Amino acid sequence: MKSNTAVLPEKAKCVRCKGRATIPMPSHNANFCPDCFVSFFETAVRRGLEKFPISPSTPLLVAVSGGKDSLAAWNVLHDLGYPTRGLHIRLGIESFSEASTEAVDDFARTRSLPWVEYSVQELFGHSIPEIHKRMRRKICSVCGMLKRQLLNRLTIREGFQTLVVGHNLDDEAGRLLGNIVRNRHQYLDKHSPYLPSTHPRFAAKCKPLYRVEAREIRIYCAIKGIRPVDQSCPLSRGATSHSFKEALHFLEERMPGTKRDFLFTFLARQKPDLKPRDFHDCRECGEPAFGELCSVCNLRSLLREKDQPHPGDGGPDSS
Ligand code: SF4
Ligand SMILES: [Zn+2]
Ligand SMILES: [Zn+2]
Repeated sequence: MKSNTAVLPEKAKCVRCKGRATIPMPSHNANFCPDCFVSFFETAVRRGLEKFPISPSTPLLVAVSGGKDSLAAWNVLHDLGYPTRGLHIRLGIESFSEASTEAVDDFARTRSLPWVEYSVQELFGHSIPEIHKRMRRKICSVCGMLKRQLLNRLTIREGFQTLVVGHNLDDEAGRLLGNIVRNRHQYLDKHSPYLPSTHPRFAAKCKPLYRVEAREIRIYCAIKGIRPVDQSCPLSRGATSHSFKEALHFLEERMPGTKRDFLFTFLARQKPDLKPRDFHDCRECGEPAFGELCSVCNLRSLLREKDQPHPGDGGPDSS
């Protein structure tokens, strides 16, 4: 069995320049030196971007969490010459959020890149740990929904039309496997690395790293001196998305290239269903919504309901 983490012998040659190779790439059946690896990485991203209706002068707002993916996405887009700005949302998750914001600040300062910062607390009124304490739902799905909605709204507010997110090949392949296993056709129909805007208040969304693996991003960050946050979110335990990624990792270790083939053969046949849907204006905030309330106001209203005393709670006769 080939290992994805094998150390190459001293005589191993880079497939491009024939210099000394230090980076094994089993899924490409190739070995690279660091310079050629960076060219490979940039080419993979550029090839992905060429499939999207984005020109090199399109201003891109990059959602940056402080993790390796979003910082690598920002770095490579900047190096490829795209005009970019970072957008960071603080989640209020104690030391993890502090370290994440520091990683973004450190990255942007050393490269003199502009960025803007908001917090879930100021935008929504409650931090993620507070929502976690008060709701029974899985926090990652609530947090994911809030981040998606707030990032979209902030993209429009900041005057951009395209939001970049750092999802990589492992994320996309894992999500695809999860949706297939659970037969979630409504998500499969929209599985695409580029989603155009379907409403004046929806930004287009693009995933320029969908052709590169998490391992390749870690190598790119190390070569480029990018220092992502070195902690994991303490609320992430038990996220089911990890299990689907692990299942693919298991197959990849035995059959290098499986993840890539699985995702790319799906995308090659995929015709995303991007028909505009009928939206109303949310009764509370005016943002587009399928029902009377948008998902953000719906969550806020659920939290408000939890604040209401239930009949029999706390009254003199309740014991
Ligand atoms: S792991 Fe879950 S709770 Fe933590 S930042 Fe990610 S989605 Fe949010
Ligand atoms: Zn080389
Ligand atoms: Zn609303």
